[in-house]
Amino acid sequence: RAAASRASWSSESSGSSGSWEPLYRVVLLGDPGVGKTSLANLFAGVQERDLLEQHGVAAYERTLCVDGEETTLLVMDTWEPEQRGDSWLRNQCLQVGNAYVIVYSITDRGSFESASELRIQLRRARQAEDIPIILVGNKSDLVRRREVSVEEGRACAVVFDCKFIETSAALQHNVAELFEGVVRQIRLRRGGKEA
Ligand code: GDP
Repeated sequence: RAAASRASWSSESSGSSGSWEPLYRVVLLGDPGVGKTSLANLFAGVQERDLLEQHGVAAYERTLCVDGEETTLLVMDTWEPEQRGDSWLRNQCLQVGNAYVIVYSITDRGSFESASELRIQLRRARQAEDIPIILVGNKSDLVRRREVSVEEGRACAVVFDCKFIETSAALQHNVAELFEGVVRQIRLRRGGKEA
C-alpha cells in the first residue's frame, strides 16, 4: 500500500488532468533534527532511513482512506536550513505545497521560534492563498526535556491561524492523525472552492 516515489518538481501537478485522482503535495518544514524525516518515514511505512535520499529529493506518495474517501498525498521532506539550502530549492518548497506541516521539537525552543518564522515566510510567499497549515510539536515522548508547553503550541497555532497537534515519531503517537488532519484540511478548502 505504501509506495515511495521520487518526486519531480514538474511532473506531478495536483489535479491537473481530470481523469486522474488528485494528488496533493504536502511539504514538511522545520529546523534540522526536529523529526521531519522520521515523520515522513512513518507516513511512507518505511522503517529504515529512506532509500530515496540518495537519488535527491525525498518524497513519499501514499493514498489514505479518510472518512471513507481516498486521497493521495505526496509528502516532501526536502526542506534545508538557510545556511545549507540553496535559495532556489527553498523557494520551490514554499511555492509547490498544497499543504504545509511546520514541525518543531517540544524539547527545543529555538525550533519553536523557527516555526513562527517559517509561518511568516510562507505567508509572504503565498500571500493571497488559503493554504492548509498544521503546526506540529514533535517528540512529545521526551517529557522531561520539554521546553515548549502544549498551551504555547496551541496559542501559537491560534495566532498563526493554523491547526495544531503534538506527535511522537518515536512512539508513533498521533502520526496517522496528523496526516489524516492534513487530508481533512485540504478537503475543507476544496469544498469551499467548489461551493
Ligand atoms: P529532521 O532533521 O527534521 O528530518 O529530523 P530526523 O527525523 O532526522 O530526527 C532527528 C533525530 O530525532 C533522530 O535521531 C530521530 O531518531 C529523533 N526523533 C525524531 N522524532 C522523534 C520523537 O518523536 N521522539 C524522540 N525521542 N526522538 C525523535
